[in-house]
Amino acid sequence: MAMSGLTALVTGGTAGIGRAVAIQLAQDGADVIVHGRDADRGASVVTEIEAAGGKARFLQADLGAADDIKRLAHEAGDVDVLVNNAGIYKFLPTSDMTEDLFDLHMSLNTKAPYLLVQALAPGMVQRGHGSIVNISTLAAAVPTKGTGMYSASKAALEQLTQIWAAEYAEQGVRVNTVAPGPTRTPGTDAMDADTLKAVADTTAMRRIAEPEEVASAVTFLASRRASYITGAVLEVAGGRPAIG
Ligand code: NAP
Repeated sequence: MAMSGLTALVTGGTAGIGRAVAIQLAQDGADVIVHGRDADRGASVVTEIEAAGGKARFLQADLGAADDIKRLAHEAGDVDVLVNNAGIYKFLPTSDMTEDLFDLHMSLNTKAPYLLVQALAPGMVQRGHGSIVNISTLAAAVPTKGTGMYSASKAALEQLTQIWAAEYAEQGVRVNTVAPGPTRTPGTDAMDADTLKAVADTTAMRRIAEPEEVASAVTFLASRRASYITGAVLEVAGGRPAIG
């Protein structure tokens, strides 16, 4: 049990990639805090983890509100593994982007991880160990028309990941990025089949990922098996060279 004795906080653990990460971390022995807004979804993930013999609890917070983020960090207590997964993606060209949606992308995809690292990394430093995995997107490195604010908010997160890796490396805290390609989640289920097929065709494998395939990269980086890896971006994207 690679994660035995460790507490992991997974933001957006109620759905999609975060849900798969929460379940895999619990399978590896972590005590998992499943974060989200939707209490029913949260309860369902906790029940699934407990039914398999794992440990989990749900914490509710709206990551669009700084006070709620600080409360979440406080209620979570000592966290050994932080997975900054919650995020939004609205693919809009600049001409259609509203100021509110601009702010929401920066707030959920960049500011929330920042505030959580700020609140939880000092405890990791004090205990001499910790691991943070930030979920970005392939779109941060391969900008595409229409993904503007989404790509930019995640590119900022990737830059911060490198900075945090440097800030905390000597104190035993590793910080890495997982950059998924298109992945089957409630978020992408909302897309129409043609769009999803077109997105799948941008990968060398010509298919989208299952959330568990992304989660296994996250749990690897979070675990002690990745003890000499920090500041890395691990693309889980079905073969990037095919993307033009
Ligand atoms: P999803 O199915 O849309 O689920 C989003 C998760 O984030 C849910 O757990 C949701 O909680 C939570 N969330 C959303 N807004 C929130 C808010 N204001 N406060 C707190 N929690 C909030 O997402 P996904 O597709 O699994 O994506 C997860 C991450 O992977 C995102 O950061 C996304 O950018 C990244 N990613 C996804 C893909 C993909 O193709 N799916 C590709 C590359 C990167 P509730 O259940 O409470 O609503």
